[in-house]
Amino acid sequence: MLKDDCVFCKIIRGEIPSAKVYEDDEMLVFKDIEPKAKVHLLAVPKDHFKLLADMDDARAALVGSMLKKIPAIAKQNGCENGYRLVINQGDDAGQTVFHLHIHILGGQVLPW
Ligand code: AMP
Ligand code: ZN
Repeated sequence: MLKDDCVFCKIIRGEIPSAKVYEDDEMLVFKDIEPKAKVHLLAVPKDHFKLLADMDDARAALVGSMLKKIPAIAKQNGCENGYRLVINQGDDAGQTVFHLHIHILGGQVLPW
């Protein structure tokens, strides 16, 4: 499930340090190393897959469960007044890490 050469799998395995804000058996949430907003977190499933297009029913349930937990995590980390979720998919979106992740952006009024 985890991949040797994937930076987010390495973070999940604890081989690369990260500023974790939440962890459970299915997901990890940590601070983005190059924040694009005052609050910029990444929610990452512990199952390695690249795209929403790679989801089977189990992964769809996993992503649904992640989405259910994100409001409380966002609120506890400085997004009391709203936030934006971004899931980059593929080259045109500029996806650079090929392990599905949900950007959580907030802590300020966000420019579109
Ligand atoms: P994306 O462009 O959607 O693939 O986003 C990948 C994100 O991962 C970027 O915002 C990077 O700043 C972030 N990132 C890459 N390496 C690390 C790392 N070691 N720790 C935290 N965030 C990272
Ligand atoms: Zn991975």
